[in-house]
Amino acid sequence: SRQIVLASRPEGVPQEINFKATTTEIAPITDGEFLVKNEWMSVDPYMRGRMKEGESYVPAFKIDRPLEGGCIGKIVETRNNDFNEGDYVLGNLGWRDYWKSSGDGITVVDPNVAPVQTYLGALGMTGMTAWVGLNKIAKLQSGSTVFVSAASGAVGSIVCQLAKAKNCRVIGSAGKAEKIKWLKDKTGIDAVINYKRTDGLTAALKQHAPDGVDVYFDNVGSDHLAAALDVMNDFGVCVECGMIATYNATDPPAAPRNLFKIIAKRIRMEGFIVRDHMDAQDEFVREMASLIESKQVVWEETITEGLENAPAAFIGLFEGDNLGKQLVRIS
Ligand code: NDP
Repeated sequence: SRQIVLASRPEGVPQEINFKATTTEIAPITDGEFLVKNEWMSVDPYMRGRMKEGESYVPAFKIDRPLEGGCIGKIVETRNNDFNEGDYVLGNLGWRDYWKSSGDGITVVDPNVAPVQTYLGALGMTGMTAWVGLNKIAKLQSGSTVFVSAASGAVGSIVCQLAKAKNCRVIGSAGKAEKIKWLKDKTGIDAVINYKRTDGLTAALKQHAPDGVDVYFDNVGSDHLAAALDVMNDFGVCVECGMIATYNATDPPAAPRNLFKIIAKRIRMEGFIVRDHMDAQDEFVREMASLIESKQVVWEETITEGLENAPAAFIGLFEGDNLGKQLVRIS
């Protein structure tokens, strides 16, 4: 079976040389186990954190050991009565062709609700991140003004549409013309900012949110967070989901220079990790499946073909190569 291992820890932006393809033998399955052939895997910005040495909220990847991450595969052989041959399962052993399991933490997914890879995106971890951030952290009220950074990405694009479904005014930022166009044409949000083309994010936000921003859904950190703090209303909420602009930093980034504004404006700033909210998963899936069915939520996928190209797909996240959810089709 083929797998991608971490060859060395990236410094700064990850490079292809940090990854290596190897092969390994998989021992035959024993009683209670099943064998899965991966069809899809996810690459996610949080994986950059696991490539660093030391503890984060998930353990670091080990050198010369295969990488891990969300994946969808088909059971090709089983000696476990709860899992049938042909079932599609969601697991966490991406970056390889095959894996075996005794079923712990493995979910069977229903290909009749949506294409199976949707369980890595809109109906999976990234969709749920958007839903938890808005509902559980922001406690979003209808009529609020919401600013979303990395708005055309896997999480951001869903945030935009969930907020629209709650009758909010939504402003998104993204870094490419095709993403701006997609957000305008497909999500129905109220304003879009190309942050690479504006003279200043704060000025652009003031223009599109003349009455201020109530909720900032932060996927980027850094300059985006500073601009959001400039335009937040009193008692606003910054939902701290991610800070991708800092993940490749070799020196600790400067704090937003205007951080004092969280006091002056009595802002609530709250970080969260989606994994802590798994008790809400059924509620999320029910709500999301219904929004998908009524076409109130649409999404885009950027598909990279072939396990060997997974490192490039991952690196591309930091270049903004992806529109919507970045996936790798393994077979
Ligand atoms: P995306 O699909 O949004 O892909 C990443 C996007 O980020 C890129 O396409 C790019 O879009 C943008 N980006 C990259 N570098 C920069 C930069 N320096 N400045 C501004 N934008 C940048 O990824 P996800 O939706 O999977 O993740 C979005 C965020 O959510 C990440 O920060 C991630 O860590 C976080 N996250 C947090 C979770 C949690 O539990 N807290 C769970 C899942 C994700 P563009 O072209 O617009 O710049």
